[in-house]
Amino acid sequence: MEMRKIGLIGGMSFESSAVYYRMVNEAVRERLGALHSAEVLLHSVDFQKIVDLQKAGRWDDAAQRLSDVARGLKSAGAQCVLICTNTMHLIADQVQASVDVPLINIIDETAERLKAAGSRKPLLLATRYTMEHGFYAERMKRHGIELMVPDAEGRTLTHNVIFDELCAGKVLAASRRALVALIEKAKAEGADAVILGCTEICLILDSADLPLPGFDSTAIHAEAAVEFALGGEAVSCAA
Ligand code: GLU
Repeated sequence: MEMRKIGLIGGMSFESSAVYYRMVNEAVRERLGALHSAEVLLHSVDFQKIVDLQKAGRWDDAAQRLSDVARGLKSAGAQCVLICTNTMHLIADQVQASVDVPLINIIDETAERLKAAGSRKPLLLATRYTMEHGFYAERMKRHGIELMVPDAEGRTLTHNVIFDELCAGKVLAASRRALVALIEKAKAEGADAVILGCTEICLILDSADLPLPGFDSTAIHAEAAVEFALGGEAVSCAA
């Protein structure tokens, strides 16, 4: 079977897109052996322009932009598309509607992993948009998963670490300690897992070395892409 081509909508930020690129290639080499690597098309956008739209709440314009990118990837041969950020899944349904190849949804894929591990009450660490806007929690709920999020102070801290540090290429030990403290607190309050629900968080937290079982959305999403590329199907969740 011909390997299917993976289309990555990246650049949000490029720090995490670089992780996706490495992960999909490593997973294909692992699965197929020898010097096999993934067939990948990456369209990496100018992140500042997306951040400006996020800040202005111009989600429809952002959807338009990412839909254009998705169509470009499709016409260049992509057989699936991935939006390489949790936050921009806010407009994932619009992007999916713009192309007739599957959009591999990071929320559905993460939910499947949580369910398989028996987690029902995970803590979500993510951007303010993902933690507060409702789209992520609603989609998780369809899978029977109730989320916990940090308190207002913890959400601000997490959001700022993502945008001011991780997306800017800075990984600071003090921020790592602060994020681990949020996980400890949630554990004491009944969380049974932690979702690294921003594609840059894996740059600062090791999902295998946390006070709670960690679910790294970047790794889960990249693995789902490889599964699809090698003939599997994406988790689909009827809207
Ligand atoms: N990559 C991040 C995420 O997974 C944040 C960047 C963005 O706002 O898209 O949500």
